Amino acid sequence: MDTTFTQPILTLRPENAPPAFHLLAKPTGAICNLDCAYCFFLDKEVFYPGSKFRMTDPLLEQYIRQLIEAHQGDSVNIAWQGGEPTLMGLDFYCRAMTLVEKYRRPGMTFLHTMQTNGTLLDDAWAAFFAEHNFLIGISIDGPRALHDVYRVDKGGKPTFDNVMRGVRLLQQHGVDFNVLTTVNRVNGDYPLEVYRFLRDEVGATWMQFIPVVERINSDGLTIYQEGATVSDRSVGAEQFGRFLSAIFDEWVSRDVGSIYVQTFEAALRNWLGMGASGMCVFNATCGTGLAIEHNGDLYACDHFVEPKYLLGNIQQQHMIELVSSPQQIKFGQDKRDTLPRYCLDCDVRFACHGECPKNRFIETPDGDPGLNYLCAGFKHFFHHADFAMKLMAGLIRRGRDAREVMPILARAFAGVQRNDSCPCGSGRKFKQCHGQAQPRTSITALPAPLARSAIER
Ligand code: SF4
Ligand code: SF4
Repeated sequence: MDTTFTQPILTLRPENAPPAFHLLAKPTGAICNLDCAYCFFLDKEVFYPGSKFRMTDPLLEQYIRQLIEAHQGDSVNIAWQGGEPTLMGLDFYCRAMTLVEKYRRPGMTFLHTMQTNGTLLDDAWAAFFAEHNFLIGISIDGPRALHDVYRVDKGGKPTFDNVMRGVRLLQQHGVDFNVLTTVNRVNGDYPLEVYRFLRDEVGATWMQFIPVVERINSDGLTIYQEGATVSDRSVGAEQFGRFLSAIFDEWVSRDVGSIYVQTFEAALRNWLGMGASGMCVFNATCGTGLAIEHNGDLYACDHFVEPKYLLGNIQQQHMIELVSSPQQIKFGQDKRDTLPRYCLDCDVRFACHGECPKNRFIETPDGDPGLNYLCAGFKHFFHHADFAMKLMAGLIRRGRDAREVMPILARAFAGVQRNDSCPCGSGRKFKQCHGQAQPRTSITALPAPLARSAIER
């Protein structure tokens, strides 16, 4: 057992410490059993040359103890991510559960979560997750033809069957799960195929759609958040807006209240003016969603695991002091304070807030730096969703059920002709607005050379 490090004890809680925060633990660092082409984690191995990339047992104990101490309230989220966190083996997480029991205060509740590619799951894992009420996030990019474009194993082989096997195991054991779908240049053209597959075939009721934006710096590297060009795997800005809008139309016409799409839930909260959207990217400020590496290094955010954003190591300084450090406070406030004038004047800023700083690397039409690469897509989506969002927000404010929006919209759009004014009040013709034909491309029309070259790379 490694006993070389000190054990920081919390003697005085910093005055400005947040009562709660979200910390993603990466016990295997960036190590994964897959080799997804767009994965920004895999490259991060270079920051820890010679490392075994395994969180030690003493550090695990410090981590759990400090995380519990750092939370003022009774509710703590213990979140595992990677790389691939199941590579630590089940015993590691059994020990984590024992440590939670050791350090918990009376009355505390814990939400255990894990983001996994699902390919290494078996009955023992699923039974463990069920026993401890884990919420599992499964990474899946859509039906087979779309998923297997980029989500391949170390030998370049497709992974779809193994992921679905993992999903079915979770379902057999009654484990709660949601799906995380990265939206890239290929599946970005197939919104309804992706959504319907997740809803109808996977059986997911909670979905996250995360845009792939892979910056390339002047050395051709994607490790750092540098450079103003993106890889050809990255989703296009307008493409992402169309993707969200197409899924939104399907969701708002039939799935409100039964399917939860994180982006839509966050948007509705912002239309309601709730202050916190539930997604850091759509909040005015951030800084309470951090990441901890396998060796105890604490970073400002999972997307900024690079030396410039290292806050310190929990073996030398208590986690809550790092979370509330001036460096981290500034990191979170910069999200708001560095918005370009173009965003400050934007009519959907209340919903977008300039999204994530990691994507702010293009110029505004006036030539100011710091505009979000996905801006055109967000403008498209938030304008598109505005009519239904206002309706849902109005219903909720009057104490009614947001699901009532579905029959209201059905009545509003019934019998509208293509050349009529759109009932949403945009002033555009129906055919150019909510009556716009959505992409209905068949998956069989997937651009085969692109798919093959990705798999065979
Ligand atoms: S940098 Fe982006 S992902 Fe990280 S906490 Fe801020 S908004 Fe969230
Ligand atoms: S939609 Fe564009 S201009 Fe508006 S806040 Fe978002 S990034 Fe800024």
